[in-house]
Amino acid sequence: MLIGNGRVITHDKECPYFENGGVLIKDGKILEIGKSDILKNKYPNEEFIDAENNLIMPGFINTHHHIYSAFARGMKSSGKAPKDFQEILENLWWKVDKKLNHEDIKYSALTTYIDSIKNGVTTVFDHHAGPNSVSGSLDIIGEAAKKVGIRSCLCYEVSDRDGLDIAEEGINENIRFIKKCQNEHENMLKGMFGLHASFTLSDETLKKCQKAICGLDVGYHVHIAEGIGDLNNSLEKYGKRVVERLLEFEILGEKTIGVHCIYINEKEMEILKSTKTNVVHNPESNMGNAVGCSPILEMYSKGIRLGLGTDGYTSDMLESLKLEI
Ligand SMILES: [Zn+2]
Repeated sequence: MLIGNGRVITHDKECPYFENGGVLIKDGKILEIGKSDILKNKYPNEEFIDAENNLIMPGFINTHHHIYSAFARGMKSSGKAPKDFQEILENLWWKVDKKLNHEDIKYSALTTYIDSIKNGVTTVFDHHAGPNSVSGSLDIIGEAAKKVGIRSCLCYEVSDRDGLDIAEEGINENIRFIKKCQNEHENMLKGMFGLHASFTLSDETLKKCQKAICGLDVGYHVHIAEGIGDLNNSLEKYGKRVVERLLEFEILGEKTIGVHCIYINEKEMEILKSTKTNVVHNPESNMGNAVGCSPILEMYSKGIRLGLGTDGYTSDMLESLKLEI
């Protein structure tokens, strides 16, 4: 298949852009990129798709999403207007996630993945929660990803907030799914180990997670210092800042995704850099929750690897990019 007559962005330093370009694809692989007319002459028998001067570019990677929130977009929290992020969590999201059943999860996933594809997103890192439907939940999302034909990396957010039994179930769901994807040598579907955030995870639970993940060669996907409450909790209970606490449990590393990182200081940025932890910026969500803004420019100048996420708000990466600027 040859897609031509498009404006091709390649991300190749030597040849980053073709004004009237084309891309030759065979068996799911890109074989050649070049000028549209040259490719057309070279491969006259290939099926030709006219891009009509639209952009042809690598797909976006949404590095932090919450598929389960698909049908709660714009929903207001019950009772009085929330006064802070903690109340948004307690009065909205921690009520929504308790209600989710397997059918809700399935249709949330199908909707989100279709919406992602429509917005040029070809890979989604999802962070799932649903304390009353933990076991098997990642399989349901994974099946939806396969059906839509999108790459996805899934995890279940372990937390103590719904009790120790559900935390244990979350640990098991992560491990089961990670191993399943590894054993099946899945290329389009992978698992990570999900953690909610420092303020809902005790030392005992973090130790259990550390033991469970041992030898699996995967990273964690965890919210870090999204609200001031996460920092205050860590300082008051453990006498250290959030990134320092996570470092002690070997949660940071080049395979780990640290989401938000708003209330972090210089020393914590150095830890994120030295451990090669990936940091995800979610400007739309940060504005919505009024939690502040991560020191994204400082982290960028330090060479910390950064990603952009939509955090359950939309699946439109360009909308988030506009807010970032
Ligand atoms: Zn999130």
